[in-house]
Amino acid sequence: MNELDLLGQADARGRRYTETNAHRRVFPSADAIAALAAFDEPLPEHGLSAEDTLALLDDVGSPATTASNGPRYFGFVIGASLPAAAAAERLMLAWDQCASTFGNSPVSATLERITARWVLDALDLPRDSAVGFGTSATACTLTALVAARRTLLARQGWDFDRLGLHGAPEIKVVVSDLVHITVRKALRVLGFGQQQIVHAPVDAQGRVDASRLPPLDEHTILCLQAGEVNTGAFDPFEQIIPVARKAGAWVHVDGAFGLWARASSLAHLTRGIEHADSWTTDAHKWLNTPYDCAMTICRDAQALSEAMNSDAVYSGASADAQKNLTLEFSRRPRGIPVWAALRSLGRKGIAGLVERHCSQARRVGEGLAQAGFEVLNRITLNQVLFRCPTDAQTLAVCAAVQESGEAWFGGTVWQGRPAMRISVSSWRTTDSDIDALLDLIVRVSHPVRASV
Ligand SMILES: *Cc1c(COP(=O)(O)O)cnc(C)c1O
Repeated sequence: MNELDLLGQADARGRRYTETNAHRRVFPSADAIAALAAFDEPLPEHGLSAEDTLALLDDVGSPATTASNGPRYFGFVIGASLPAAAAAERLMLAWDQCASTFGNSPVSATLERITARWVLDALDLPRDSAVGFGTSATACTLTALVAARRTLLARQGWDFDRLGLHGAPEIKVVVSDLVHITVRKALRVLGFGQQQIVHAPVDAQGRVDASRLPPLDEHTILCLQAGEVNTGAFDPFEQIIPVARKAGAWVHVDGAFGLWARASSLAHLTRGIEHADSWTTDAHKWLNTPYDCAMTICRDAQALSEAMNSDAVYSGASADAQKNLTLEFSRRPRGIPVWAALRSLGRKGIAGLVERHCSQARRVGEGLAQAGFEVLNRITLNQVLFRCPTDAQTLAVCAAVQESGEAWFGGTVWQGRPAMRISVSSWRTTDSDIDALLDLIVRVSHPVRASV
């Protein structure tokens, strides 16, 4: 089979998968998972046919997918893929560009530069900021923190690039008590020990309590968040950031999903966030682009481009070349699906997506409260945190929903006890999917409440 026929088959299989997206089990059946054993072959001595390889991938792989690109997946904050973004991604695969610099790929560099401008516009962040399109919020937070530490050290007269960390003035980090695990991971990778990390107490909604903020100074990186993973709550930026800046601290905001509220009528939740030094956000969550796609945004463009610089004798580039703003050297132009998403949604469309999910989340919360569940968060965003009267019931209801295949959401622990969290973040989710979700939860909870 020639290359074009093979790619045609892949398109046809992808199309069939997408057509059946809304009807497939949201979490694969035990049979589909058991069938994955078919992949367990020894590495072939001689290559097998590409056609057979594609067929195996689809026939065995597709049934064992999680239908997170469908309308009834409410786990984590996953988001589906917008048609424009998914389509752009497919063309991008045909191009197979190495989007390090303009010299590597003029079209990629041009589009990512424009997309950077659009992102700053949509999020109303300082227009001179650098925007690096990285693989994930995890990687983007890491790069922001590298720039933060290097800049704070430079202000102390310490040349980090030459001297490294050995003997350097100590930099400490203040994080929310409910800081996302990936920020912790980025800090650990960067060599911040637990002793250098101070926890800021939070209130009942999971927001950093401004009245109990630990001391900050010019040796401090403060990490705040827009969108706590359980409650969707925002830290009080307007109260905290001016204090931090006055103290000379660097403020980083993890807005993996929540930062997009700023592009909607919920922008007031983010008031004051524009005064931070750096921000992280994902496109692959709430903006509904395919994976892997996230952004580091850094007010001081030079701070990021110097920290991430990877110019070489054979590969020089401008300061805003993506290889000088991200961890990657060879990289795909992951800003292109962001461009397609933003272009196809427009300002109104982004706002509409965010606002619809937030109102759907409120509808879920109201339905659950009426059905006798305890809703644990004030639903200001797209997250609903809830539980049953007893912990055993909470665990059983969560498991029953997951096993049903009709919808999926995950469990968590909130204030020491099991809880369930629903995140509305797929463009495909309609109000009738929300009704179906509520029906399902109520239906599975009847036998559970009777028995445990
Ligand atoms: C998902 C998430 C992250 C990590 O994002 P990745 O893109 O998965 O690395 C960080 N912070 C918050 C609040 C998140 O929800």
